[in-house]
Amino acid sequence: AKQAGIGKIRFYNAEIAAQQNQHLALVEALKQAIQQQQLSLVYQPQYHLASGEICGCEVLVRWQHPQLGAVSPAQFIPLAEQHHLIEPLSNLVLKQASLELDQAGLLNGRLQQVSINISASEFHTDLIPRLTRDVAWLQRLRPFLQIEITETAALEDLHTSAEVIKTLAAVGIRFSIDDFGTGYSSLSLLNDLPIDEIKIDKSFIDHIVDSPRSHAIVETVIKLSQAFQLNSVAEGVEQAAQAAVLKQLNCHSAQGFYFSKPLPIDDLQQLLQQ
Ligand code: C2E
Ligand code: CA
Ligand code: CA
Ligand code: CA
Repeated sequence: AKQAGIGKIRFYNAEIAAQQNQHLALVEALKQAIQQQQLSLVYQPQYHLASGEICGCEVLVRWQHPQLGAVSPAQFIPLAEQHHLIEPLSNLVLKQASLELDQAGLLNGRLQQVSINISASEFHTDLIPRLTRDVAWLQRLRPFLQIEITETAALEDLHTSAEVIKTLAAVGIRFSIDDFGTGYSSLSLLNDLPIDEIKIDKSFIDHIVDSPRSHAIVETVIKLSQAFQLNSVAEGVEQAAQAAVLKQLNCHSAQGFYFSKPLPIDDLQQLLQQ
């Protein structure tokens, strides 16, 4: 029995070591993918509900690993955060989005806003010089740029968050609170931060038709956003019935598979030409 036990421990250690190696190999591969600009972008259109027109898009990063295939951002974004790769990754996303959208002729006002996700770990004063630099590609994107931050990121240090948002707002950058309602202090954020948009989390939209509670929450958040003169955006809309309820509640805009999945730039361009 003792023998077997020792064997087990060895096996276990070997398994952990293998996992760590795999983890490090993935980090290394991600580093290379960033350096060699192997990440690609997709754009999910956002629809103005009253008119049915596309009013903006959310930029989402994609990574096609040569052996592993598509790795989900839900997996590699945390990895990038842990290994100091998130800033180079974000810089790449910003620049590539600007160049692709510009080349497609979509930075001329056709899209009112371009939303980009920023991680909690990069939401501090360093963001100011990164987004105010006078480089041509950033100047082209900036009038349309909206930064999506999560409640947790904004709450870490409200004073600094307010300073960052105010400084960047002065050069025309807008801010959206992502996954609104899933954090623990949404209302104090509205009170303290000069934001422009609330993104209603998919978990509320999922049950908006069948749960009176979800419906009431979404209705309240939309009213709240109106009182604060903010845009309300619903995320993760998958069904016509959900879109209909949101429109009836005067939600400003919506995105989700019901309208369109995230698209490569060429497909977005085509969709906008129709
Ligand atoms: P998120 O910001 O909440 O983005 C929404 C996610 O929902 C995206 O997943 C999108 O593809 C997916 N989605 C959109 N519509 C629907 C729908 O109708 N149904 C369902 N089930 N899903 C829908 P994705 O692209 O896999 O991204 C996952 C998360 O990774 C994002 O969540 C965001 O937190 C992060 N992420 C993605 N791209 C970036 C990036 O460039 N930078 C940073 N920092 N984070 C990113
Ligand atoms: Ca987002
Ligand atoms: Ca979200
Ligand atoms: Ca969400």
